[in-house]
Amino acid sequence: MEHDAIVIGGSYAGLSAAIHIARARRFVCIIDAGSPRNRFAHASHGFFGQDGADPYAMIAEAREEVARYPTVRIIASNATDARAVAGGFEVLLSTGEVVTAAKLVLAFGISDLLPDVPGLAERWGRSVLHCPYCHGFEHSGGKLGVLWITPMSVHQAVLIADWGPTTLYLNGNALPEEAARALLDRRGVAIEPAPVRALHGGDGSMSSLLLDDGRTAAIDALFLAPRSRLNSPIADQLGCALDDGPFGKIVRTDAAKLTTVPGVYAAGDIARAPHNASWAAADGVTAGISLHQSLIFEPLAA
Ligand SMILES: Cc1cc2nc3c(=O)[nH]c(=O)nc-3n(C[C@H](O)[C@H](O)[C@H](O)COP(=O)(O)OP(=O)(O)OC[C@H]3O[C@@H](n4cnc5c(N)ncnc54)[C@H](O)[C@@H]3O)c2cc1C
Repeated sequence: MEHDAIVIGGSYAGLSAAIHIARARRFVCIIDAGSPRNRFAHASHGFFGQDGADPYAMIAEAREEVARYPTVRIIASNATDARAVAGGFEVLLSTGEVVTAAKLVLAFGISDLLPDVPGLAERWGRSVLHCPYCHGFEHSGGKLGVLWITPMSVHQAVLIADWGPTTLYLNGNALPEEAARALLDRRGVAIEPAPVRALHGGDGSMSSLLLDDGRTAAIDALFLAPRSRLNSPIADQLGCALDDGPFGKIVRTDAAKLTTVPGVYAAGDIARAPHNASWAAADGVTAGISLHQSLIFEPLAA
């Protein structure tokens, strides 16, 4: 095998795994397509020592730190296929190159499946947001909305009312059941049943929602918890078990971030819910250290 480990995805989870493998003086190859999930936001919040930093700058800084270790190879490419071979795994890249390693870390992230409302996608990460802990403070006291996606949107609206006056936009869906309505009422959340036709405002910001019946509603930020999909079929190809998470499929892992396939670890958004960059990085640390220790203890136990 050319490397001890291949890490597919070089963002918060992948780079955190890789630096621990590199610091253990093992050969690690990172393959990264360069599109982290939070690339739509201008600032990332809540990450230790990096609050408010530009997401691309944070990741570039981390990549530079990892690249200083002599046993690290970073390839800017897309991993398209992976399979088990004698002694480990081989990974095919979109360039046609094949790389091999004893172990794998899957850290290729997820993509958000945004509802098709005109004006919504271009405001994603700016005034259309998924997480109040990441971006709620910046809209403190403003007129906030939650767009109905699933019954979990009630939970989101109850929570988000802590950051400002909140309306739950049902977007034409049925009224929540009585118990849920009572919760919303106790938190002062208004309910707007009409379908949302469009979002309006300046560049990235939002000032109003256009409703189906022609009314407009003033708003500063709209939260939603979209469904998601894994960025790559590689976990499936390798035979890793997937579970249904609250937003989409999740790669099943144990406490060491080992998947159900021996030698394959998974970290970050693909292997957990809920999500943020700090949790992704923490998962990466767990995966990297577990992987390194397996290189030592598995041969000893054989
Ligand atoms: C709009 C928005 C704003 C957010 N803001 C915050 C915030 O302020 N604070 C916070 O803590 N969290 C925030 N998050 C959550 C945060 O972005 C994620 O939790 C975090 O990016 C997950 O890290 P990850 O390493 O698992 O995946 P990602 O960061 O998504 O990285 C996955 C990497 O793998 C690469 N990749 C994908 N497929 C392949 C392949 N086949 N081959 C090679 N490489 C591949 C991708 O290009 C990418 O570089 C935000 C999310 C969104 C959507």
